[in-house]
This record gives sequence, structure tokens and C-alpha cells, in this order.
Amino acid sequence: MPAMAQRVAPFGTTIFAEINRLARQHGAINLGQGAPDFDAPPPVLEAAIRALSSQLNQYAPNIGLPEARAAIAQHAQRFYGQSISPDQVLITAGATEAMFAAILGLSDPGDEIIVFQPVYDSYVPNMRMAGVAPRYVNLYPPDWTFDPDELAAAFTPRTKAIIINTPHNPTGKCYTRHELAIIAELCLRHDVLAITDEVYEHITYDGAQHVRLATLEGMAERSLTISSLGKTFSATGWKVGWAIGAPELVESVNRAHQFITYSVATPLQAAAATALQLPDSYFEALRADYQRKRDWLLAMLQSAGFQPLAPQGGYFIMADWRDAAPDHIRDHIRDDVQFAEWLIREVGVACIPPSAFYRPEEKARAAHFARFALCKRDETLQAAAERLTALRVRGA
Ligand code: PMP
Ligand code: GLN
Repeated sequence: MPAMAQRVAPFGTTIFAEINRLARQHGAINLGQGAPDFDAPPPVLEAAIRALSSQLNQYAPNIGLPEARAAIAQHAQRFYGQSISPDQVLITAGATEAMFAAILGLSDPGDEIIVFQPVYDSYVPNMRMAGVAPRYVNLYPPDWTFDPDELAAAFTPRTKAIIINTPHNPTGKCYTRHELAIIAELCLRHDVLAITDEVYEHITYDGAQHVRLATLEGMAERSLTISSLGKTFSATGWKVGWAIGAPELVESVNRAHQFITYSVATPLQAAAATALQLPDSYFEALRADYQRKRDWLLAMLQSAGFQPLAPQGGYFIMADWRDAAPDHIRDHIRDDVQFAEWLIREVGVACIPPSAFYRPEEKARAAHFARFALCKRDETLQAAAERLTALRVRGA
């Protein structure tokens, strides 16, 4: 009797688990999965410890702890000038669960949802499980812009929603206000919802502004804004996320959420309330620190022979690897997956092959790219640099 359901059989294993396994096996320095190798800030850790010893260890209310929802609403006011009631906030097990619950709660089998490609790897499997069909719109390098006509053509009478991830994984694109206005106009014209994934909202470079689509005219009622604690507070393992939107949207998402997880780790929600109320200086220091790491890794990849594209936000650098691979190796490497495997095995540095973010028939678009994570300690980046720059010497 075949045990595995047809629903999940085509999914395979996520690229992050695959690359982590290979990296461990070969003792590689891991610039693959986007997870910091340093800890969350002390006030956030202390808040969690306090919560654990304050009798906050039973189920939280299904929609979330009131103080955490209030802090998320205040954060939206502080950074985006949004006036939101805590009733418009639902707390989920990370942005990942928020997205799945949103798709389940807001679309029906046979509906279509538009995504931009490269597309974060969980969205399309989420849609498949919900019986929803993806429609793809490409982001084109080097600037990762989209063609407005291609976008307009993706809207059909079946379109229920569009998903926008900004700042974007894996490209680091920050959608401009102008681009978001084009998207908003199409959403209004076709009566379509916008679901945004803003987990990198506080990590932007070179003065790039993160713009929240929900703040554009006419979009407050038709946007569901998703974010989480993981990236902003270097606590990816906590899996505390949220969805913000009009009461009817949030209620729809909660209908799914209540039967997926019911509620989320109570003490970590209490700590989230503290984290989100940290002063502006915390958020400024986070941005400055990542700007420094981004600049450093960009220069290092360049000197190792890569052609990196400068990200405007997020945790990652996309780099063309062709000039970095020694000649005799380049001729034998067909694509990004083979390059990543070779880099782990022979050089001892792990990256993510970004074809994981493309549908099967378009994976060739990513064949010359490698995605490197920059959310690492300086020592880790330095150790990766020593191995990567030796590449040139060996190749010469
Ligand atoms: N969305 C994007 C675009 C991501 O890069 C990630 C992973 N870091 C997530 C969602 C997952 O967020 P969470 O850990 O809060 O589920
Ligand atoms: N978002 C992280 C990345 O892109 C991975 C999160 C996960 O493993 N699901 O690296």
C-alpha cells in the first residue's frame, strides 16, 4: 500500500533541508539557509525567560495574546502610520503558517493566485494543497523588475489574490512605490486581494524604503500584511508571526489557523510584545549592521570572481558564479544545483541554488546564480571568504 498522499508526493524535500544536510556532511561553512548564527538581542531573550516564569505557559487565546496584538498594532502605527485595532491582528506560527492559513482562508479550489518568480518556496506548495493554481510573473535581472503588461495579463476572472514579498527573497528587491501602485491599480480594477510577505521589512540597504502596500490608497481593505519576529529580532526558531488586515480578512484567515495550530507559544508571544516595543535605535542599529555585512560580502564575492547583484534589502546576495568557477570546472557544471554541490564538496562553502524558487520549466533562468546568506557573524563571513578567494588561486 503506498503510504504517501498524492497531495504531498511531488513536493520532495525543501532545498534548505537538503543543503543543510550536505553542508554538515562536508563540514562546509553554511551561507545557505537564511538563519543568523548569532543570538537574539538580550532584552528579547530576557523577556522570554521572564514570561516562562510568570505563569504564561498555557494556551494563549486562539487569535493571539492581547499584549502582543497591541504591540503589533503599535508597531504598524510607529513605522507606517497605520491606525489598526488589535482586533485586526492574528498571531500565527511564523509567516509560513500565516501564508498557508491565508491561502486556505481566502481562496477556493479552482481559484488562481498570482506570484512573482523567483517565488519563495512555500507559497506554491501551499496553493497546491489548497487546490489553487499559481500564475507566474517574472522578475528580470539585473534589477529584478517586472513587465507591467505581463503582470496585467496574469489577471483572469479566476484571480483571487496576488502575493508580494518585499523585501524579496532571494533577490533582495524592494518593490518601489511606483511598482506597488501598478499592482494596487490592478487589484482594484479586478477586485483582487493582495497578500504581502514583509518578513524583511526592517532590513533595507542604501536608503531603500520598504513600502507597505496596505498603506496605498484603496488597499487597506483588500490587503493582508504578513510578517514575523524571526528576521527583525534574529529569532528565526521562535516561529512567531502575524497577519494584519481588515476584520473580515483576519476572521477568514483565523478560520483556517484555529484548526492548524489553534494558538502559538504563549511565552514567546509575550516576548514579542517586548521586542516590538524596543526603541527606534534598535531598528536603526540592525539596519546599519546588516548594511555593513552586505557591503563586505558584496566586495568579497566580487574579489572571489563572482558577479554579485547588490540587494536592496533582505538576507541574501544573488551572484553569477560563472567567472568564479575555475575553467576546467565550469565546463562540467550544468546549472546552479551542480555549482552549489561542487562548492560545498570541493570548496567547503554552502549556498542555495536559486532554481528552487522557479517552476520546473523555468529553472534555467537561475542556472548561473548562487544565493549567499549574509546574516552571519563576521568570523563566519571571514572564514567563507578565505575558502572562496582561494578558488581563484587554485583555478589560475
Ligand atoms: N517568507 C520569506 C520571504 C522568507 O524568506 C522566510 C524565511 N525566512 C519566511 C517567510 C519564513 O518566515 P517564518 O520563519 O516567520 O515562518
Ligand atoms: N527563509 C529561509 C531561507 O530562505 C528558510 C526558511 C526555511 O527553512 N523554511 O533561507
